[in-house]
Amino acid sequence: MKRFLLWTGVVIGAAAIGVLVFLIRSTCVFGNHVYTPATCTEPEICTRCKETRGEPLGHAYSKATCSEPSVCVRCGERHADALGHEWLPATCTEPETCARCEETRGEPLGHSMRDATFQTPATCSRCGETSGEPLPPAFADRAVNELTVGEPVPYTTASFEDYSIDVTGIAEIADYRIIDGDETFPAREGYEWRIVTVRLVFDGEDAQQNGVQSAYTFGDYYTLDNAISRSEDENGMRTFAADWYGLRVQCWQKTGRTLENDWYDRELRFTWEEGVQVPKGYDGVLFILYHFCLAEHATRLYLPASEVLNDNALVFRMK
Ligand SMILES: [Zn+2]
Ligand SMILES: [Zn+2]
Ligand SMILES: [Zn+2]
Ligand SMILES: [Zn+2]
Repeated sequence: MKRFLLWTGVVIGAAAIGVLVFLIRSTCVFGNHVYTPATCTEPEICTRCKETRGEPLGHAYSKATCSEPSVCVRCGERHADALGHEWLPATCTEPETCARCEETRGEPLGHSMRDATFQTPATCSRCGETSGEPLPPAFADRAVNELTVGEPVPYTTASFEDYSIDVTGIAEIADYRIIDGDETFPAREGYEWRIVTVRLVFDGEDAQQNGVQSAYTFGDYYTLDNAISRSEDENGMRTFAADWYGLRVQCWQKTGRTLENDWYDRELRFTWEEGVQVPKGYDGVLFILYHFCLAEHATRLYLPASEVLNDNALVFRMK
């Protein structure tokens, strides 16, 4: 009897263990769920009883870039399109460039150089970059006698009676001024008058015997000859052209007031104004006194500068 009970107990025990193992292996009655990992959209789920735990992870989107869309790094779900490049225009030295990722496209435009002028070096019309120097002035290295305001210097020209006889006196730029205009020199929009007061004094025997014939003309520091017209209009104006920032610009010359033109005791004096009307800032006009014999007679006054610039010529740059 005792043995029977023992075996019965063993059998029941074994059965109980079997049932227990079965329950543990196949059901969740002891809370022993078998969860799959959570995903972007699903929480952890028990494979046996479908019970859930926790929350879905939610998507983890990458940042969209110029060329890549925004997608979930876990599941690949697409969230937003690629941004596309934000192209900045090409410049002289840089191709089109994306403001975000700095990717480039195409080629730089290259400079668009305008030719040098007497006032400016070769210059890019787009970005203002310059190259080299302004054009060299034609007058720059010439050896001539330059006049300075208020400093008299000797001046030799022809006598009035006989052009083959030299007469020497002194020449002086007594005054130099720049004005918009006045009653003698009419103003013009965009222009200014540059006016010299020229003074010639002759006190020698030669002048007293034969008189004096002076001669002058106008030249240009940059181009040398400015081709001043020989004839004047009804207002006493003569035209010439100046080369100003690459353009040929119309200018005017006018002889102004006469302040002295006679004998004073034993001195023959001439003092008068010469004005040129030039674009504001133009500093190239040359006033040139030369020996009258070069002109031969009065109709050949206002000679081109290149014909009169020699060792005797006196030059004042109206700058
Ligand atoms: Zn379960
Ligand atoms: Zn996802
Ligand atoms: Zn980009
Ligand atoms: Zn440029």
